[in-house]
Amino acid sequence: MKILVPVKRVVDFNVKIRVKPDGSGVDLQNVKMSMNPFDEIAVEEALRLKEAGKAEEVVVVSIGPAKAEETLRTALAMGADRAILVETDDAVEPLAIAKILKGIVEAESPGLVILGKQAIDDDSNQTGQMLAALLGWGQGTFASKVELADGQVAVTREIDGGLQTVSVRLPAVITTDLRLNEPRYASLPNIMKAKKKPLEKTTPADFGVAIAARLRILKTEEPVRRIAGVKVGSVAELVDKLKTEAGVL
Ligand code: AMP
Repeated sequence: MKILVPVKRVVDFNVKIRVKPDGSGVDLQNVKMSMNPFDEIAVEEALRLKEAGKAEEVVVVSIGPAKAEETLRTALAMGADRAILVETDDAVEPLAIAKILKGIVEAESPGLVILGKQAIDDDSNQTGQMLAALLGWGQGTFASKVELADGQVAVTREIDGGLQTVSVRLPAVITTDLRLNEPRYASLPNIMKAKKKPLEKTTPADFGVAIAARLRILKTEEPVRRIAGVKVGSVAELVDKLKTEAGVL
């Protein structure tokens, strides 16, 4: 079985985001970019399934600027076999991403697509669900455990107040949650080897997908600054402040 893992290049999770002065979006100039953390977890899960003898090939795909090749090389250095870069200049919305991924699925026929549950830049949490719908496949989202057996995949999902396990017939779409696994670091020899692994370049037009935006961003704002906390000297003082200042008692 082949596993397809879509990986997105996003602003590194350690970077403090700067909003552009005109509020039109986030400033990406000279900002460190990395693989979306949930996608690292997806790559790791695919590699573990391959290492357990349940898959033969792990193919990673990214839709984005030419620099997304770096993100794909990171996935190849972790252990993925092959990469596909769908090059675009503009940011692409989840529906168009899902349509492009559908085209790749039709060309590659994977048994499983493992995506992140969300990309940390737009927090859309839509692509996996849309892809499953477009393909007419079952989906197990927010996976914290994945078990493959007999043409089925059991996905344990993190839901409010507990865990739910669903059984999905293959081929299927899975999206990863934070606790599924801890992604490996790529070793230096593997980083060197990844430079020689195959990377195919395509465009959205090759899949007949129009990527024009359907949404218009009206405004982007920084969150309101939190005011500093205070230390209280006693429980009595705390109760007094809660009553008289915070007004919550
Ligand atoms: P989203 O629906 O945008 O929150 O993204 C959910 C998941 O879809 C991500 O974790 C990736 O696995 C995948 N994805 C979204 N955008 C892209 C992209 N441009 N290239 C590759 N994969 C993507």
